[in-house]
Amino acid sequence: MNNNRVPELDKLEEECGVFGCFSNSPIDASVVTYYGLYSLQHRGQESAGIAVSNGERIMVHKGMGLVSEVFSKEKLDVLKGSSAIGHVRYSTTGDSDIKNSQPLDAETKLGPLSISHNGNIVNADVLRDLLEDTGRLFQTSSDSEVILNLIARAYKKGLPEAVSDAANTIQGSYAIIILSKDSMVGARDRNGIRPLCIGRLGDAWVFASESCALDTIGAEFVRDVKPGEIVIADKDGLRSINNMERTSCQTCSFEYIYFARPDSVIDEIDVYEMRCRSGERLYEECPVEADIISGVPNSGIPAAVGYSKKSGIPYEMTLIKNKYVGRTFITPSQELREKAVNVKLNVMKNSVKGKRVVLIDDSVVRGTTSRKLVEMLRAAGATEVHLRVASPPVAYPCYFGIDTPYRNELIGSEGDIEAMNKTIGADSLGYLSREGLLASLGGEENFCMGCFTGVYPVAAQIGRGKDVMGEQK
Ligand code: SF4
Repeated sequence: MNNNRVPELDKLEEECGVFGCFSNSPIDASVVTYYGLYSLQHRGQESAGIAVSNGERIMVHKGMGLVSEVFSKEKLDVLKGSSAIGHVRYSTTGDSDIKNSQPLDAETKLGPLSISHNGNIVNADVLRDLLEDTGRLFQTSSDSEVILNLIARAYKKGLPEAVSDAANTIQGSYAIIILSKDSMVGARDRNGIRPLCIGRLGDAWVFASESCALDTIGAEFVRDVKPGEIVIADKDGLRSINNMERTSCQTCSFEYIYFARPDSVIDEIDVYEMRCRSGERLYEECPVEADIISGVPNSGIPAAVGYSKKSGIPYEMTLIKNKYVGRTFITPSQELREKAVNVKLNVMKNSVKGKRVVLIDDSVVRGTTSRKLVEMLRAAGATEVHLRVASPPVAYPCYFGIDTPYRNELIGSEGDIEAMNKTIGADSLGYLSREGLLASLGGEENFCMGCFTGVYPVAAQIGRGKDVMGEQK
């Protein structure tokens, strides 16, 4: 982890956001992409970039920081063209460095190419070694350059088939968008672990990690890219190829629990509604008598609404989030990380004084923030504080583009709820079961739950993970 950042209140760290806009008619694609990236900012705050094609060449601008810090009107004015891709990054592989920021671009025999990638290629190290053995040089430590090299190597087949070849070689999670001078290609891994959807803005085709980005730019949602599908937008319109074997939908369940914005719909599941359902189910599984229900802002609120609705116990705001606190304001030693909770969240004392409070969070990773919040509520006069978590205990690392602490730092790896609650110090602790999570997601077994179960949709390569390897499904 980058040492001058503080994690978002004991959450798994997001991955990246990708966006693309392809048009055969004149359109200011970089401006559309700029707004698209704004709405995906929650997926990565470390760097941002846009690559734009004017039909003859590709220009790129990227930098460290938020979209608003990297782009100005003057910078966007230079990026003229009717097709563009963009990226917001949180580094899970590769160093936190401008040279690993995206879009990555390269001159190839297919012409100039640029790529935006969300996810983690678990066999990237092996592929990088093989490519280096054949004389390829790498400028970055990012997985995405491996993908770009594989595509460049298969140039004789043309861009769509070259992407298809690369997609059959790489393993892991990816939602990628590739920009050439005169086309755009979007692709999703064979398990659909990372989301990618398609929209329509006038004559333009749009690709985005989440549907909230389509809403922001006024595009109409068309559909999600299917697992293993490669979608090509060019002068002939939109077409797709899917020649991958053994595709199956295993979307990251954490997208629904925490990563995605609540106003997004992923693979036909409304994220906000799913979070409310998880809260209702959480009440059925872990009821408790109390005076008020409250959610940890912001991601715990929809589940708290569901818990309140099901229990009939009123919902009250008890914690206020300071929305002006960025992620770079301190060095995260353990002591300062705990202090950061006070800076980020404050208790509404009159709401909690003399009350039995049920505090709902969407997930708990280390337990440090939960312990602090329980303390703060008690100090403000709560007579009881019960913590309910709208997902199962996070007990295993993620290998698919999510920054997870070492297993021994995960409070869920202790396995025993009583022992976990000793660390947190609540009057009681309850987690949603795996079955409850699945039911909230609609009941199908179409989701990766690796960080809860240790069973992953793809076998990770030894050496890339932080701890013991999980099984392959
Ligand atoms: S291991 Fe967890 S965070 Fe990673 S892809 Fe699977 S569900 Fe998502």
